[in-house]
Amino acid sequence: MWLEGRDRTVPAASAQMTPPGGTGPWRKLYEEIGKILFENSLEPTPQNFDVCHRYLTANDGELNSQVERALKAGGLTAVSVASIIAQRSVEISADDLGQMATGAQSQLDQIMTIVKRSGDDVRSYGDKLEENHAALSDPETSAQTVVDLVTLTRSMIEKSREVEDKLRHSADEITALRNNLAEARKRADTDPLTGLPNRGSLDKRLAEEISKSRTDGSPLSIGIVDIDKFKVINDTHGHLVGDEVIKFVASLLQKKDGDRVFVARFGGEEFVMVFEGVDPVTAAAELNEIRERLYKLELKNNSTGAKLGRLSFSAGVAELTGRDGSSGVLKAADTALYRAKNDGRNRVYIADPSE
Ligand code: GH3
Ligand code: MG
Ligand code: MG
Repeated sequence: MWLEGRDRTVPAASAQMTPPGGTGPWRKLYEEIGKILFENSLEPTPQNFDVCHRYLTANDGELNSQVERALKAGGLTAVSVASIIAQRSVEISADDLGQMATGAQSQLDQIMTIVKRSGDDVRSYGDKLEENHAALSDPETSAQTVVDLVTLTRSMIEKSREVEDKLRHSADEITALRNNLAEARKRADTDPLTGLPNRGSLDKRLAEEISKSRTDGSPLSIGIVDIDKFKVINDTHGHLVGDEVIKFVASLLQKKDGDRVFVARFGGEEFVMVFEGVDPVTAAAELNEIRERLYKLELKNNSTGAKLGRLSFSAGVAELTGRDGSSGVLKAADTALYRAKNDGRNRVYIADPSE
């Protein structure tokens, strides 16, 4: 689909690499990637490899500065790599990123336990020292011992402070990763042109709503909306104006979006609306109201002043009852939409029970 292409200067490392064992630049590149992984104690996972490969080859200014910032702040870590991936939309799913975050969190928890234990050691060592203070107080025999013990204690405390600083840094990294992950999740579920939930997000929501409706017996209706004669708009005014029209219709449909109506972009100029707890007659009436409002508008291209003419959409509405899950209800709504198109467009039809 349009406007969803990713800005990838080079293909993923795995797709671009020639088999190892060659000579010349490939060998050198492998060595350099290996060096970064080794020096930063990073496992040679595809994600770590990909970020290093991009850093060395992709000429991607933003990624390079993110990697350099991480290197300056004490080295690349599994967390900072995950954070970079989340920000750069490198090919990895939000779920994989979530797993990386969970892994990072459990590492942090382990470090916390170790630090707490070592802190306790230092404290009990200090207590022991206190207890033995009297026995050690003979300056002839114990002065040097005390000095040594105090020096040792100080060094233990300093070490534990160092670990605490590192921990604080890791905790900051994890907070940044969490934020980046939330962003990546949102991006993965959102259509970039309209800002509406995308098809993947619709699939999830529809499955949830179907199971809710089946459990509590509440009605559930689905509407499929398709802009009429949209190709003519693209052909007459250009695709950018077409994009604006899609955004405009999306915003009209979304105005109905409350707690009970979920609107998603289904494809090019098609939208799906999930009406929770709403019967199909009410859902169709709501859609019809939007259709009438749209058809009354005199739309024009703001930059050229050219009139776009009347704009309409057709829609098909179906209820879940008696249908076979999400594919059944979507198919029924699509059949009703097809009838609406065939009967002249600019109308909203409700699916027959047989559809
Ligand atoms: P109908 O009334 O039968 O629906 O006619 P139509 O012209 O709308 O037909 P159809 O649904 O087949 O055409 C949709 C067109 O939408 C085809 C495609 O070129 C265009 N399109 C798909 N995605 C986008 C997009 O993101 N932006 C723009 N501008 N056009 C798109
Ligand atoms: Mg269409
Ligand atoms: Mg159309």
